[in-house]
Amino acid sequence: MKVLIPTPLRQYTGKQASVEVSANNVGEMLDKLTAQFPDLRKHLFSDDGKLRRFVNVYVNDEDIRYLENENTSVKESDTVSIVPSVAGGASATSSPPETSLSNDEVLRYSRHLIMPEVGMAGQQKLKAARVLCIGAGGLGSPLALYLAAAGVGTLGLVDFDVVDFTNLQRQIIHTVDDVGRPKLDSAEEKLAAINPFVNVRKFETKLSSANAPDLFRDFDIIADGTDNFPTRYLVNDACVLSGKPNVYASIFRFEGQASVFATKDGPCYRCLYPEPPPPGLVPSCAEGGVLGILPGLLGVIQATEVIKLILGSGESLIGRLLLVDALGMRFRELKLRKNPECPACGAKPTIHELIDYQEFCGIRGEEAPVTAGVPEIQPAELKARLDASDNIFILDVREPHEYQICNLGGHLIPLGDLPARMNELDSSREIVAHCRSGVRSAKAVTLLRQSGFGKVKNLAGGILAWADKVDPTVPKY
Ligand code: ZN
Repeated sequence: MKVLIPTPLRQYTGKQASVEVSANNVGEMLDKLTAQFPDLRKHLFSDDGKLRRFVNVYVNDEDIRYLENENTSVKESDTVSIVPSVAGGASATSSPPETSLSNDEVLRYSRHLIMPEVGMAGQQKLKAARVLCIGAGGLGSPLALYLAAAGVGTLGLVDFDVVDFTNLQRQIIHTVDDVGRPKLDSAEEKLAAINPFVNVRKFETKLSSANAPDLFRDFDIIADGTDNFPTRYLVNDACVLSGKPNVYASIFRFEGQASVFATKDGPCYRCLYPEPPPPGLVPSCAEGGVLGILPGLLGVIQATEVIKLILGSGESLIGRLLLVDALGMRFRELKLRKNPECPACGAKPTIHELIDYQEFCGIRGEEAPVTAGVPEIQPAELKARLDASDNIFILDVREPHEYQICNLGGHLIPLGDLPARMNELDSSREIVAHCRSGVRSAKAVTLLRQSGFGKVKNLAGGILAWADKVDPTVPKY
C-alpha cells in the first residue's frame, strides 16, 4: 500500500513523500517502514515501543485509534497517512441580533445581501459578531483582512510583535513602511482603510494562562493563527473551558492543516493530539521555512469557517481535519472524533483550569536551551584566529541551498548527514561548526564530541552573528 510521509518526517525517508510498503496490518507496515528507514523509528515510537501520542495514523480517512489500532488490517489499495502535529463550532449567534445596517453598509455589503445564504439577517449577524484573532502574522493577515471586509463587527487582535523585514514575504497586512512598528498598529490601519465600520480591538500582549480567560470573555469565536505549541494548547484549553469555538489552522513549508475545534459536540485539538511533540522535533516556520502563499490559503480557509459559524450555515470543518498540500495542490480530509478520554473535553476531564503551557510543552523560557553547555567560540575570536592563520577547520552543517545564500567557505555536511559522514573529518584538528543561528551546529558539536572529536566548538550565533559582528557584506536570511 501507499504510505504518505508528511514533510517534517521526509528528511528520514530520503526526502520521499510516499513509500510503498506491503503489509497485512498497520503494526507490520510500521515495522517494515522503520526497518527501511531506521532514523524514522525514534520519531514515531517512544523508547518503550509505543506509537508516540503526537503521531496519528490514518487508514484512508479513518484514525486507527477508532479502528483496531496497530492491529488494523490494511489492503494493497489502501492509503495510509502518518499525521504528526505541525511547530501550526456550532453557530455562535443563534437569533438575529438587534443591529441595523446604514445605507452605506447596505451598499458596501450588497453582494452579500443579494445571496439568500447571507441576506440581511446574515449580514446583521456578521455585524454583531465578535471574533478574536490570535496573532497578526501569516495566518492572521488574510484572516483579519477578509473578516473585516466581510463586515464582522468586532475584530480583536492579540499580538506583541513588531513587523520584521522577513515577515513581508507572507504577512500581507504589513508593508515596507511598517517595518519596526507594532504589528497591531499596522494591522489596525489596514483594516480601518478597508472597512471603517469594523471595531478593531487591539491587545498588545502575549496570550497567557493568566490573561486568556479575560480576553476570550468578550468574543464569540476564537481564530488561532499561532505558530507554536504552547499557545496552541493554551488556545484550545481556554476555548474548551469557555465554550468558544476554536477555528484552527497551522502551516509548515508546503503543507497546512485546518479544522474547527472545541464546539459543543465536536472534538478539540487535544482529541487529535493529546500531547505536544518534544521540543526541537518539529521545526518552526523560522527554522523550516514556509511558502509565503500557504498562510494565505489557510488563513482564508479559517476566515471562511469563521463566517460560516457566524451565519450558522454550510458544512463546518467540525470533526474533520483538512490537509492542504500546496506543492501537489491536493486537499484531503480526515475524520476527527471526540475522544471520550480527552483530558480537556472528554467525559471525565482532568483539565479544569489553564496550566503552564511552556512547561507542558517541555520548554523552559523562550530561548531554545540546545546550545547551553556546548563549547563555543565568538565570531570575533574566530576571525582573529583565522587572520592569524591558525589551523582551524570550518564545518558548515546547513543545507546546500543555504550554503548557496552565503557561506564562510567551510566544508559542507548537513546535520542530518553528519552521522554517516564523520569519516570526512579529522578528529585531531580543531573544528568550528556553524549553521545559520547556532542551534543545529550545537547539536553537531554535541554529536561529534560524543563520537570522540575533542576539539570541536560551536560558532556562537551562527553565520547570522558573523554577519552582524565580523562581515556585514554577508547576507542575512
Ligand atoms: Zn478533546
